[in-house]
Amino acid sequence: MGNSNWDREVDVVVVGSGTGQMAAVRAADAGLTALVIEKLPALGGTTSISGGGMWIPNNYKMQEEGVEDSLEDAFEYMKHATFGQSEEALMKAYLDNCNDMVAYTRGLGIEWFIIPMGAFPDYYEAFPGASTYGRPILPMTDDPIPPGNAFAGGGVLTRALEKAGRARGVDYLTGTPVKRLELDETGAITGVLAEKDGADFRVRARKGVVMATGGFSRNPEMVMAFLRAPIYYPCPPPGDTGDGHRMGMAIGADLRNMNESWGWPVYWDPDTENPIPAYAPELGKPGSIVVNRRGRRFFDEAGPYARIIREFQHFDTDTLEYSNVPAFVIVDSIYRMNYPLAQYEPKMKLPNWVTTADTLRELAEQLGIDPEGLEQTVADFNRYAEEGKDPEWHRGDSAFDLQTGGDASRGLANPCLGPIIEPPFHGAPMWPGVLGTKGGLRINPNGQVVNVWGDVIEGLYAIGNCTGSIMGAGYPGGGATIGSGMTFSFIAANHMRGN
Ligand SMILES: Cc1cc2nc3c(=O)[nH]c(=O)nc-3n(C[C@H](O)[C@H](O)[C@H](O)COP(=O)(O)OP(=O)(O)OC[C@H]3O[C@@H](n4cnc5c(N)ncnc54)[C@H](O)[C@@H]3O)c2cc1C
Repeated sequence: MGNSNWDREVDVVVVGSGTGQMAAVRAADAGLTALVIEKLPALGGTTSISGGGMWIPNNYKMQEEGVEDSLEDAFEYMKHATFGQSEEALMKAYLDNCNDMVAYTRGLGIEWFIIPMGAFPDYYEAFPGASTYGRPILPMTDDPIPPGNAFAGGGVLTRALEKAGRARGVDYLTGTPVKRLELDETGAITGVLAEKDGADFRVRARKGVVMATGGFSRNPEMVMAFLRAPIYYPCPPPGDTGDGHRMGMAIGADLRNMNESWGWPVYWDPDTENPIPAYAPELGKPGSIVVNRRGRRFFDEAGPYARIIREFQHFDTDTLEYSNVPAFVIVDSIYRMNYPLAQYEPKMKLPNWVTTADTLRELAEQLGIDPEGLEQTVADFNRYAEEGKDPEWHRGDSAFDLQTGGDASRGLANPCLGPIIEPPFHGAPMWPGVLGTKGGLRINPNGQVVNVWGDVIEGLYAIGNCTGSIMGAGYPGGGATIGSGMTFSFIAANHMRGN
């Protein structure tokens, strides 16, 4: 409880160095002293290994290019795209602040560009207010982004934030896990207890503590207890263990959306022990399908990755199993000549965890798929390819499918549909992974944490994946997670600054 034996005193303590870094920089800009405490040896968290994309409706790049958008449309869209699991006041706070946050990053030297070629339209195009071009933006970099590496932007973002922070006197502690929140007799947060060099280290936060510890995807107990279904290969770094959730729970913070995650289908490379993304830019190309063990397709392979997580969570009450896990990516050799598979470019030798066979039946038998089911599915799919129409899963009907997945250069009836006919055939298991979890501490529109009685916990803010996401149960578009983390980091700092 109350404690006056502080080892250090600052105005603002930020716990976690991903999108939380924004709060430290913004606070320091107003003359507040700020300390970022990170438990891993390196700064940056999941944010630093991400694409760094942010979903920002009516952003300055859209305005420069004359792309029509409005915050009213975006609000209408978000009301649908959060599937009833967010609050209107939180969505409004997001929309009211996200462009100010972007303008602020430009003042820090970070410029942005719209994802090229119009890939990544909003993920639910059928909802009113959806946009097909421009809301997701990526940070520009002076260093050329290595070809094929869509995930270099996150490092650009966190390094730029760190540079801006250091220039403004923000201090950083790495390898220093925060263990507990410190409270006074009224229940207000006064600081944190961390472990530094094996000893207790107490830091007073005169204005506030910003909990920015990310999600709990690397904490198997929390995953088992809270998520709707198992996840197999989470992508965040090992610090994603729900520490902020538990520190909040310990002092009575309310929770939201604890069963939700940012879904991301992956291959698992047993040699490097790394998940490899399995999503529309590859899966949506002609000549590929994804099937379950019955050999049946179960989603639109060219669609947004975010939707697939629900299909992975499907529990078959007949067979009493998660019948879509694992799924199997199946391609033929025409596909293989033209496109990467599991990020192995066409001329590269495939790894030994990709199975190759001369017939679909053999491939099915080797992978453990029902051979008749696969043969029937491929026969149906080849007919859809010829007709240019997929009546089952509508692959190739939407702007997302066509712009993110398909290949318009082949002159096919539908750029996302090509027959699977040419041996040898290749197949590999595909698993539910996550970019992070998205349930956690309940916040109000100032980013302040609210307790189970609905009252604000004074002195405590939370942002990013340790909060009940303001995106609710949906994933409105590419960059919705970093966009909301960065925006609420900005909002929390503004509240501590008094503006
Ligand atoms: C490959 C990949 C690509 C992605 N691309 C995008 C994208 O382009 N756009 C997008 O919006 N999202 C993307 N995501 C998702 C996005 O990166 C995350 O949802 C987001 O970065 C989470 O931000 P955060 O600040 O909440 O957590 P993090 O960035 O993970 O930061 C949390 C930090 O807190 C630290 N921490 C935890 N506990 C403690 C403790 N007790 N004490 C001190 N520190 C602690 C952690 O070690 C970590 O460094 C991607 C994810 C992956 C894996």
